[in-house]
Amino acid sequence: MRKEPLGIILTSDLAAKARGRAFPQQDFQKYLSTGCGWVPANLAIDAFGSIVAPNPFGSVGDLRLMPDVSSIATVALNDTGEQTTMVLADIHTPAGEPWENDPRSFLKNAIQDLEAETGLSVVSSFEHEFMLRDDDGSPVNAPFSLESFLEEEELGGLLVAALQDAGLEPEMWLPEFGRNQFEVTIRPAPALVAADRAIYLREITRHVASLLGKRITFSPIIEENGGGNGVHVHLSLQDGEGRFVTYDSSRPGKLSEVAGSFAAGILEHAEAIQAIAASAPISYERLAPNRWSAGGVFLGENNREALLRICPLFDIPGANHQKQYNLEYRAADATANPWLVLGCLIRAGLDGIRRGLPAPSIVHGEAAELSEAERDRLGIRSIPATLEEALDAFTESETVQGWFSRDFADTFTAVKRAEIARVAGLDPAQKYDAYATTY
Ligand code: GLU
Ligand code: MG
Repeated sequence: MRKEPLGIILTSDLAAKARGRAFPQQDFQKYLSTGCGWVPANLAIDAFGSIVAPNPFGSVGDLRLMPDVSSIATVALNDTGEQTTMVLADIHTPAGEPWENDPRSFLKNAIQDLEAETGLSVVSSFEHEFMLRDDDGSPVNAPFSLESFLEEEELGGLLVAALQDAGLEPEMWLPEFGRNQFEVTIRPAPALVAADRAIYLREITRHVASLLGKRITFSPIIEENGGGNGVHVHLSLQDGEGRFVTYDSSRPGKLSEVAGSFAAGILEHAEAIQAIAASAPISYERLAPNRWSAGGVFLGENNREALLRICPLFDIPGANHQKQYNLEYRAADATANPWLVLGCLIRAGLDGIRRGLPAPSIVHGEAAELSEAERDRLGIRSIPATLEEALDAFTESETVQGWFSRDFADTFTAVKRAEIARVAGLDPAQKYDAYATTY
């Protein structure tokens, strides 16, 4: 038998699943310019593969996936070394315009508006944590250990190679704190590239593990009170000359005035953005105080409980603090579409800059140890406790609703409310299993 090499054109949807259509590699060049068909109601597919009804699209209408060649990634998806080409697409209408509900165009528009209004652009990197699903149930855990590294040495090496070959620029691979937990980080890149890479990273990681007969998951949490798998989004601002402008050594926390307004915008819209960034009911089991995920809506310096963290600077030889300095948004997870998360963070930051919001108070030390009065003075708020609460904030925020088309906001809310109803009927073991299998 012969096996034809294939290329695949992909989008990523509200459930953060990469979906698309594949073609013979020899015809792929043609499809890169013509794109391929797509269906509006696909936007209403939920995390478990059902189309949620009613949705604004029904059975009518046609769209096109229009590949962006700058996102091409080539990977060996089996051990014969045979290469598969993947490309991410914008969704266009039949008239050739970006579709108003396209998640990738949502990020592109946010990037464009930030640039047009402020001359700034965002450099970003998504840090992913995940867990191996199969273990012998041993309660012994070996966080950060050489033992864990050696146990998964083959996975680490193959994964880093696959990510390198796909052009994702992996930086670090480490055994994390949680049971059977690992983390992989990639180099910062312009916002769109960073989000594209986050989409590829999850798919490639799952696939490399499956080639080794292993099942891994990015699900936010896989057992009661277990460790959490976060997706931490690092952000810094660059001006038109490529200078990093997030840092200002003369200001509190060394946070520049413009980055202070950007951060204030993110905090102001935090609850509404939470519905997009931690997009499953199960996400909220991870997001609780004292879990080092994000225990409250505040800006913290070197604080792993902060929604937004000022990352540490080190005086190492050759250090460039302007370049090194960055903010980390800690509340996202892999149930969220990277284009939407980053698009929301940029839109919120732009709103903060537009309105000249003052930099938020910076929380030093443990927020949990502060008195009520002190928390109020610093403006610390709680994270929404459930996806329902976050969805209410999403629907109630006029500003955030204004970032999306009516159809998009309605579809998103319908898909998420259907997911809440569906999961409510599962017992805890079924629920953890469903998400671990999906993500
Ligand atoms: N696993 C934690 C989370 O759920 C993050 C730990 C860390 O700071 O890397 O976000
Ligand atoms: Mg980590």
